[in-house]
Amino acid sequence: MQLQTSLEIIQLEAVAKEEENVRFAAFLKQQTEQQVDEKVQHLNLLIEKEIDCTACGNCCKTLMINVTDNEADRAAGRLKLNRDEFDRRHLEKGSHGMMLINTIPCHFLNENKCTIYEDRFEGCREFPALHLPSFVKRLFTVLMHYNRCPIIFNVVEELKKETGFSN
Ligand code: SF4
Ligand code: SF4
Repeated sequence: MQLQTSLEIIQLEAVAKEEENVRFAAFLKQQTEQQVDEKVQHLNLLIEKEIDCTACGNCCKTLMINVTDNEADRAAGRLKLNRDEFDRRHLEKGSHGMMLINTIPCHFLNENKCTIYEDRFEGCREFPALHLPSFVKRLFTVLMHYNRCPIIFNVVEELKKETGFSN
């Protein structure tokens, strides 16, 4: 399996394949959810171990990260800050009381490594979320990240081959 890890090429490919991906999404919606999930989870296992996230770090450089109260307490404790100080330095309030990391790239990324790795937030742990069920229902979000995450890009491209999608 030949994997693409260049973010530059992935971004160009994403533009070139925009219409193809719309057709692929429609094609996948005709498959059974379980069959697609099995293929995606299998490909994800093969591909994620071949991709070095510390050579990429693009999710931490480009995504808005939600933080819950408990997560903020834990990260504040790790950084030996009280919550007010942690919130003042690192968080901003979004709509409906939602809290977000107040910088993109994330403050906690240093040389492509997370400096609070063991206490990183749920959204960070889950991304790119290809191990989760209901891939087809989440396609809109997955394809939104197709141009930024080499794991997603390669899983989607291999899934096209595995499902016999003709582009
Ligand atoms: S907390 Fe860590 S894993 Fe999450 S976005 Fe920041 S650097 Fe990345
Ligand atoms: S999850 Fe995707 S975007 Fe994030 S570091 Fe790994 S390959 Fe890059």
